[in-house]
Amino acid sequence: MHELTITENILRVVVPAAEKAGAKRILKIRMKAGELSGIIPSYLEKCFEQVSEGTIAQGAELILESVPASVRCMDCGYEGPVEKKTFGCRECGSLRVKVVSGRDYFIEDLEVE
Ligand SMILES: [Zn+2]
Repeated sequence: MHELTITENILRVVVPAAEKAGAKRILKIRMKAGELSGIIPSYLEKCFEQVSEGTIAQGAELILESVPASVRCMDCGYEGPVEKKTFGCRECGSLRVKVVSGRDYFIEDLEVE
């Protein structure tokens, strides 16, 4: 399960960071995820609830913001959001595009107490 691995990775980062900062509890975790990351927010929340149990992140609110994917066209050099229907270039319609961003996810911000 993709989401389970992600939540475990998140906790591995945020829990030590919050503890190091002297926090007793993590209230909010703000994340950004590329639209091609394959993360399903409702799954992620469910996994997070399970994995965070017993840690200082238990009960924290997980906020996931989706970041549009960006591609580069091999034919015309266009760079930007992908044409959603074809997953090709928005300018020339070529399907020879390379994903520049949109597959990754990262933690943007933490709120602790
Ligand atoms: Zn193009």
